[in-house]
Amino acid sequence: MVVVGGGFGGFYALRKMQKLLGPERASFTLVAPNDYLLYSPLLPEVATGVLDPRDIAVSTRQTLRRTKLALGHVTSVDFEQHRLKVSGPESDTELSWDKLILAPGSVTRQFDIPGVAEHAHGLKTLSEAVFIRNHVLAQLDAADELPDTEAGRAERKERLTVVAVGAGYTGTEFVAQMQNWIRGIATRWASIDPSEIRWLLIDLAPAVLPELGEKLGKEAMDVLAERGVEVRLGVTVASATATSVTLTDDDVVPARTLVWGAGVAPSPLIAQLELPTEKGRLVVDPDMTVPGVADVWAIGDAAAVPDLAADPSKPTPPTAQHAQRQGIAVARKWPPLSASETDARTSTRIWVW
Ligand SMILES: Cc1cc2nc3c(=O)[nH]c(=O)nc-3n(C[C@H](O)[C@H](O)[C@H](O)COP(=O)(O)OP(=O)(O)OC[C@H]3O[C@@H](n4cnc5c(N)ncnc54)[C@H](O)[C@@H]3O)c2cc1C
Repeated sequence: MVVVGGGFGGFYALRKMQKLLGPERASFTLVAPNDYLLYSPLLPEVATGVLDPRDIAVSTRQTLRRTKLALGHVTSVDFEQHRLKVSGPESDTELSWDKLILAPGSVTRQFDIPGVAEHAHGLKTLSEAVFIRNHVLAQLDAADELPDTEAGRAERKERLTVVAVGAGYTGTEFVAQMQNWIRGIATRWASIDPSEIRWLLIDLAPAVLPELGEKLGKEAMDVLAERGVEVRLGVTVASATATSVTLTDDDVVPARTLVWGAGVAPSPLIAQLELPTEKGRLVVDPDMTVPGVADVWAIGDAAAVPDLAADPSKPTPPTAQHAQRQGIAVARKWPPLSASETDARTSTRIWVW
């Protein structure tokens, strides 16, 4: 069994299969660019210094003892020959597989907006989270040193404004956590009053956290308003420079921190497979097998798994909880278990955020 991607879907599929199947029944290989499972829902905590990076990275070598780790990115899959190509840190290799689980997740969705690729920062990896934390602290350091002149005051505004785009999990949690953290530590800088720091959360959608429903979205809005976060709905970014963000209503916000949490797109690997997709996610049957190719499953953010619990005509939302459950469900189905293996099934703790 080869698994592509060691995130919530791939990691939990492997963990469950290792528990269910003895070494004589199956061998496992994980192809992943990192040797850890990243608890991405906790990235805002790393960006705001509440947690250390190592607190949200679970070692795959330590946890998946019977899994061989092939470090690198899968660049292509030959479904007829059952082979795939891996671009590793030092060299390229090929692997063969009997069964394959595709779980390469998603990437920050890029929009063709002038200046965004150069000046906006994503929050999808550990290094991005650490970068954002250091960047915000550096802005406070620099603002604190500025002279009380017209130019100094203008630059101070830019450095003391944080714009987060996307009122889903990433943007909302980031801005709420960051504001809370900075408010608590701002007195470390002699000239900075926490109320002087401007926080903006922007989304084209009419509500914050739409995936959580109207009631919780409204509560989140109230909390943000209480904390002094300006929520601007129905607008997005028209362009960005190193020192300003122009919104689609022509408002120009002087700002040197722009955090991009406006949605995700499936891993670029999916588009290369030349298989049917739905909004970029790989089409799968309700049992997560990929139609038209034998012995392949796809799960998590990269797959359009019909949402049997809510509305089977729609795919499950791209969340860690769905990816984790899908990984465990595939593990339970493959291969058909013997009676003793069925008895040996152990419960798996599901993490909920
Ligand atoms: C800031 C943030 C906050 C979030 N908050 C929540 C939350 O509160 N609750 C919730 O349920 N969800 C949350 N999510 C969403 C959740 O993290 C994802 O839905 C979940 O990680 C999807 O799991 P996955 O296994 O499909 O992909 P991932 O966990 O992203 O794992 C995919 C893995 O595949 C690897 N990979 C990619 N391409 C290749 C390739 N070509 N070859 C090999 N490996 C590859 C990637 O490096 C990655 O390690 C949040 C996400 C972010 C970024």
